[in-house]
Amino acid sequence: MGTFELISKHGDHEEVIFCHDKTVGLKAIIAIHNTSLGPALGGTRMWNYKNEDEALIDVLRLSKGMTYKAAAAGLNLGGGKAVIIGDSKTQKTEGLFRAFGQFVNSLNGKYITAEDVGTSETDMEYIYMETPWVTGIPKDFGGSGDPSPYTAHGVLMGIKAAAFEQLKTDSLKGIRVAVQGLGNVGSHLVKYLAQEGADIVVTDIDQQRVKMHVDQYKVKATHPDEILFADCDILSPNALGAVINDNTINKLKCKVVAGGANNQLLEPRHGDELKSKGILYAPDYVVNAGGLMNVFVELEGYSHDRAFDKTKRVYDNCLKVFDIAKKENIGTHLAADRLAEQRIKTIGHLKQRHPGKSNRAFGTLKEVFNRD
Ligand code: NAD
Repeated sequence: MGTFELISKHGDHEEVIFCHDKTVGLKAIIAIHNTSLGPALGGTRMWNYKNEDEALIDVLRLSKGMTYKAAAAGLNLGGGKAVIIGDSKTQKTEGLFRAFGQFVNSLNGKYITAEDVGTSETDMEYIYMETPWVTGIPKDFGGSGDPSPYTAHGVLMGIKAAAFEQLKTDSLKGIRVAVQGLGNVGSHLVKYLAQEGADIVVTDIDQQRVKMHVDQYKVKATHPDEILFADCDILSPNALGAVINDNTINKLKCKVVAGGANNQLLEPRHGDELKSKGILYAPDYVVNAGGLMNVFVELEGYSHDRAFDKTKRVYDNCLKVFDIAKKENIGTHLAADRLAEQRIKTIGHLKQRHPGKSNRAFGTLKEVFNRD
């Protein structure tokens, strides 16, 4: 399949930029999916793709996902993403990231980058030497640092909204929550859940992490193969994608699925199946938007309190999704897409009609976001 055919097959992207610098060995692709709501924000992934088509498909898919995530989160951001083709363990250099930073800079704020799989805060620092259009820079430079506590707090809000909707309770006291994954997000989530008095069971393939959480928060532990089928009220996947699939769905005992992991449904039809089983699914990209909210605050001039406060909006966003799902009798995974699409349509339309503050040219976003 030709490159343009591939691009149009994977969405209606506004712009796809191929970045090449022979001297430093840079091969990267930036995909800007939609900027109706604001500049396209999304991380830069460094991955050893098997071939260039695989990299292109990944960046097209991920950038589209960012459009939906930002829109459903209520942020004035569009969706974009970048991929650098290469081995993140052996092929990273200052020159590579600075050359990439120059490409980002050439877009004049239409695309704003951040960390993702295979890239780090140090890499963002190199990019920042060439362009202001980067988030996730170190705190010393006015950055927001690690997004995980904010993501986890948003996940807690998603869990609370789902408990309110499905279990008719305002409190998580005594509510049985099964947490899969005790990494950056899962460990903060367990802390927040323990503070709420939830009855928690955890797992991780890293037994040391399990022990640490059992000791610190007095939670129960189970085997990684058992967690999805734990007898619980709420299942919270915070490790891997595709955990809701043909092999697992019939064995779930939970009443709610709400967690931070990306792409929890193997296929959209698994969202329909959860609905028909009476299990409420709080859509992953609505629930895990706290990290994105955090970097958005970085663009405005960072404040921890404002970022933390913003993550509370995940609660209302989830209630909106549940409401659409009920009114239209559709799965919540589809309702989340409707919420995002509706906002893009309405606000995108307003911006076309009224050239207000939110409709500045991308080149003047420094003023809007207060960044040098
Ligand atoms: P992480 O790598 O820090 O943690 C993942 C944890 O899951 C690790 O402790 C790992 O040992 C464990 N794990 C892996 N396979 C497992 C299995 N089969 N069973 C049980 N545990 C297993 O990652 P993270 O940053 O905490 O992210 C977790 C998920 O949330 C990912 O899907 C990520 O894409 C998503 N997410 C993270 C953020 C963020 O701010 N970090 C934001 C949005 C979405």
